[in-house]
Amino acid sequence: MRFKAPKGTYDVLPEKAEKWEFLEEAARSIFKIYGYRPIETPIFEATELFARGIGEATDIVQKEMYTFTDKGGRSITLRPEGTAPIVRAHEEHGMSQWPQPVKLYYAGSMFRYERPQAGRYRQFYQLGVEALGSNDPALDAEVIILLLEYCRSVGVKEMDLLISSMGCSECRSSYIEALKDFARERISKLCPDCARRFEVNPLRLFDCKNPACGEVLAGAPKMIDYLCDGCRVHFESVKGHLGKAGVGYKIDPTLVRGLDYYTRTTFEVQSGYLGAQNAIGGGGRYDGLAEELGGAPAPGIGFALGIERLAMAVEAESGKIPGEYELDVFVVAVDDSVRVDAFMLAQRLRGEGLVAEMDYLGRSIKGQLKLADKLGARFAAFVGPEELAAGLCRLKNMVTGEQEDVPLGGAPAYLADKVFEEPVK
Ligand SMILES: [Zn+2]
Ligand SMILES: [Zn+2]
Repeated sequence: MRFKAPKGTYDVLPEKAEKWEFLEEAARSIFKIYGYRPIETPIFEATELFARGIGEATDIVQKEMYTFTDKGGRSITLRPEGTAPIVRAHEEHGMSQWPQPVKLYYAGSMFRYERPQAGRYRQFYQLGVEALGSNDPALDAEVIILLLEYCRSVGVKEMDLLISSMGCSECRSSYIEALKDFARERISKLCPDCARRFEVNPLRLFDCKNPACGEVLAGAPKMIDYLCDGCRVHFESVKGHLGKAGVGYKIDPTLVRGLDYYTRTTFEVQSGYLGAQNAIGGGGRYDGLAEELGGAPAPGIGFALGIERLAMAVEAESGKIPGEYELDVFVVAVDDSVRVDAFMLAQRLRGEGLVAEMDYLGRSIKGQLKLADKLGARFAAFVGPEELAAGLCRLKNMVTGEQEDVPLGGAPAYLADKVFEEPVK
């Protein structure tokens, strides 16, 4: 038998992994500018954390979790999202005693047992931020702007920002009554999944991907028309901050992201370049989640984005993501007697910060040059017995074919000057 990556997963090979690294480094630097600090939580948590945090009636908890019993008899789940673990860590480590709000960012793999289809995988890589400890609408605007700024900084220029408000526990209960009244009269037209959703959490009706259910629900009452005074003022203030910052947005009352913990502001950033599955990332406020998980109250807001979809959007719009492997120098050993000297030159080149490579398979000079060419080396540095005796090294510019002899001791610094002062293109 031949092993393959498990269904719904894939290997991120160097060419793609280099792009992801570039995107992640860009994220880390801009997240830091906004005051966010890194956090790492375990890849698995107690199942109950997600069941209670994300919500029993959600598709994630009902159908998509990787849940297993460990050897100690505990029910464990691979994290399907990053927020509930961070809120758990916030309570566990008493972060409400830290300077408020606490701003955190994370990057890592999430796991959902989805039906494999284009653009959806069972293991996917997310970047996200969470800000806990304040319900200031300025923080909502900041988190939204951070997501937009980050996408823009890596080359996504054309984006749509959709925003909405999910209300609070107070105004949502009157809304849910109205929604129930509406759905009860039409329950026979809804799918069996929706009949179950109706019983457990009617808000989840909007998650249904069945077109017939979508048609029925198009006429349903909208949360945004049921906001209490506090929630309305909050939403107006978020919009005000965005307006002041010159950020355009569309209000989309159907934006009920598929997790139960959202309150008040929800948002999504979309790219027209992504086709049907056009969301790059999104998030929202979760003012009740900490208490739902048994902790002290801690309002919070955050976003998550999938790096795969971001990379697709950047490439579709800007054509190229930087970060690809570029070889500066290939050290050619002219014969076997100088292999150790070639090895030492490669080491000294690396010491100057140059990307240096050499032959490890005993190739001929011709074979080494062929490899240097294949790897896209900008320069070849020849180490030969005669040059060594004269204290020299022959350099060849692989683009122009130009050759020159330089003192061996000074060759690394000389090449570093050339490479760093004349960037390719
Ligand atoms: Zn409210
Ligand atoms: Zn349905």
